[in-house]
Amino acid sequence: MPSLFVLPTFLSAILETAMLIDNDASQPNSQVLARKWRPRDFASLVGQAHVVKALTHALTEQRLHHAYLFTGTRGVGKTTIARILAKSLNCETCITATPCNVCQACTDIDAGRFIDMLEIDAASNTGVDDMRELIENAVYMPTAGRYKVYLIDEVHMLSKNAFNALLKTLEEPPAHVLFILATTDPQKILPTVLSRCLQFNLKQMPPADIVAHLTNVLTQEGVAFEAGALHMLAKGAQGSMRDALSLTDQAIAYSLSNITLDAVSEMLGTTDGAQIEAILRALIAKDGAQLVQLSEQMAQRSTSFYDATIELAQALYRISLAQVVPDAKPDDYQLAALVAELAPQIGADEVQLYYSIVTNSRDQLHLAPDVQAGFTMMLLRLLAFAPAKNTSAGVAPAKKS
Ligand SMILES: [Zn+2]
Repeated sequence: MPSLFVLPTFLSAILETAMLIDNDASQPNSQVLARKWRPRDFASLVGQAHVVKALTHALTEQRLHHAYLFTGTRGVGKTTIARILAKSLNCETCITATPCNVCQACTDIDAGRFIDMLEIDAASNTGVDDMRELIENAVYMPTAGRYKVYLIDEVHMLSKNAFNALLKTLEEPPAHVLFILATTDPQKILPTVLSRCLQFNLKQMPPADIVAHLTNVLTQEGVAFEAGALHMLAKGAQGSMRDALSLTDQAIAYSLSNITLDAVSEMLGTTDGAQIEAILRALIAKDGAQLVQLSEQMAQRSTSFYDATIELAQALYRISLAQVVPDAKPDDYQLAALVAELAPQIGADEVQLYYSIVTNSRDQLHLAPDVQAGFTMMLLRLLAFAPAKNTSAGVAPAKKS
């Protein structure tokens, strides 16, 4: 009986030691990147320029609305903007769009311990009754600062009681209160609430912005990286800067502070551009043995074959696009050079055929005896339908640039 309890304690001790060692080994990252590099003012905030502009303007004109509704997916900066706004209103210097970041109020808000800033996650607190009390308390004057700032995340999930309290407070908002409501699902917000809020749609971060930010962060952290690896991390983060930074944390640990494309591709189980490129080249060369070997390699790396078909279809789409509109530059870093080189080497009709084989095969992958077999069959089907070499009429050989 006691061993049941001893073992977990023992394990957690090992884990703790391991984490300590790990922290020592990669010293710059002893603090999680997302927290360490959370923007502390509007100037260093990446993306969301439309929101920053409106809020900065409202602050300098001292015409702030009493309730804002931020919509957008996770990790796009809702909490970050709320905290900067709270500092702007409560900074000891004055109400300003450029809070000092050194006074007590600013540092407390950054640390998440400012008494007049309440961060509520409605998703995890539904039904808790003192949420209603919390919101009703809005009428009382702030304790330490000028404004009480309420950040209510996933506001559509508030309990009925809490929601009614919020509605009541929004109907007659006290002058010293600022509500920042956030939701990933604006459809579920009642019109009565919508009409009392100024609504902003926070956009997903474009990959280029994420890459630029990661480049800056890693350079300052003194971590070696390959540009292609950052593009892959940005892709994996799907528009969320926070996800991008935590993936980067993982990549630092995984690659022992040398973030190569290879390491990231292995970590994420995604194809790197090299695999897709090799497939396309083998196809052009009509090299069946090579195609089978590539599929084998991908299986060994636990690459997602579903993702690989998407990547392949994406590459074919880009190639087709480049054949029709040669000036169209792919926004995808990894594809750009490849597309420019291969577009003249494959016939336009071939690309169309390949594309339809790949997209159809993707739907059928789950019908295959196993996914790898399905993927390999798709490659062999591409090969079977590829016209004999050098018969792509009218297509000029690749130009070296
Ligand atoms: Zn301050």
